[in-house]
Amino acid sequence: MKKIETLCVHTGVNKDDTFNSVITPIYMTSTFAFEAPGKTKGFDYTRTANPTRTALQECLAALEGGALASATCTGMAAETTVLHLLEPGSHVIAGHDIYGGTYRLFSAILNGRGLSFSFVDMRDPKNVSAAIRKDTKCIWIETPSNPLLNIVDIAAVCAIAKKHKLLTIADNTFLSPYFQRPIDLGCDISLHSTTKYLNGHSDVVGGAIISKTKELGEKVAALTNALGTGCSPFDAWLVLRGCKTLPCRMQAHARNAQALAEFLEGRKEVKRVYFPGLKSHPQYALAKKQMTGFGGMLSFDIKGGSKAAFKFIEKLELFAFAESLGGVESLVEHPDSMSHASMTLEARRAGGITENNIRVSVGIENADDLIADMKQAFG
Ligand SMILES: *Cc1c(COP(=O)(O)O)cnc(C)c1O
Repeated sequence: MKKIETLCVHTGVNKDDTFNSVITPIYMTSTFAFEAPGKTKGFDYTRTANPTRTALQECLAALEGGALASATCTGMAAETTVLHLLEPGSHVIAGHDIYGGTYRLFSAILNGRGLSFSFVDMRDPKNVSAAIRKDTKCIWIETPSNPLLNIVDIAAVCAIAKKHKLLTIADNTFLSPYFQRPIDLGCDISLHSTTKYLNGHSDVVGGAIISKTKELGEKVAALTNALGTGCSPFDAWLVLRGCKTLPCRMQAHARNAQALAEFLEGRKEVKRVYFPGLKSHPQYALAKKQMTGFGGMLSFDIKGGSKAAFKFIEKLELFAFAESLGGVESLVEHPDSMSHASMTLEARRAGGITENNIRVSVGIENADDLIADMKQAFG
């Protein structure tokens, strides 16, 4: 088996027999002509399949060590699609500190439309066991969590799921397959917002569902077709291009995040830093065990509440004040009023998100410049 750096460059390419283009072309077409009744060159309609999207899917399946992938138009479309695997009446267990949009989809949209959800603190796998009911069918894992970088022991939770024959889905957006491979750790499905690290350049919204088995992957592909959640050929092409540099980018993100986390930990203005690569992180040992790097996301609690947080954010020059993450440029945001505002205040506080919290998506700029910018912003 080739290593991930090689797979990133060499999977999903050599698709053009007409002109031998090295780069996979963008097949901007909605439909494909039949050669005879029932006879095509493998494609008939782009909602069902498109060569550029198929190329991206081959690449994503290889990177995650899965059998098949479906590329969707957003991360939320990926989530919406996989949840249709569940029969009405199914109960899902998810973390109490999952992505805000996921929490909204579960609690405000799908809850009561045939599905029900329990949100538990997954840092302790015992809480997962305790939440299992007769109608439980699925465990939804997100690790590291957003924005507090809590870690879920994927192998331990999958072992519990296996005992009860539950489907396991991991949102692997925060680390990408370069630093974490949920399928290797026992998950049935690894899911992504490719908007983030996989594309990496903040110019696409997209998602992906990678299934461990061909059988499950075919079910997901059928749902993607039926629901119409597949991504456009152009977006597929951009994400495929992003994947080629994933290893270099992830290394740079992680190196800079480590430097920034250590800097923040030494500042008197900072109450607490959340980054799995710090020895002070309560789950540092677990992070080291299941991840091959600590990623590029961190958050910290500033002293002085939201007033101090906004004052600091406004003074930053290199960090754009924006939601989202995983692009080459550094971003900073205030989860309590922005990315996680779709959660209720109660749910935010229960998850440990306060008005003091500032989330940073650390880019691939020079770490010294990033640190200097934060220094001047603390004043
Ligand atoms: C952004 C994000 C999503 C949603 O993806 P979109 O592409 O914005 O729809 C889901 N999960 C996590 C962890 C995310 O960061």
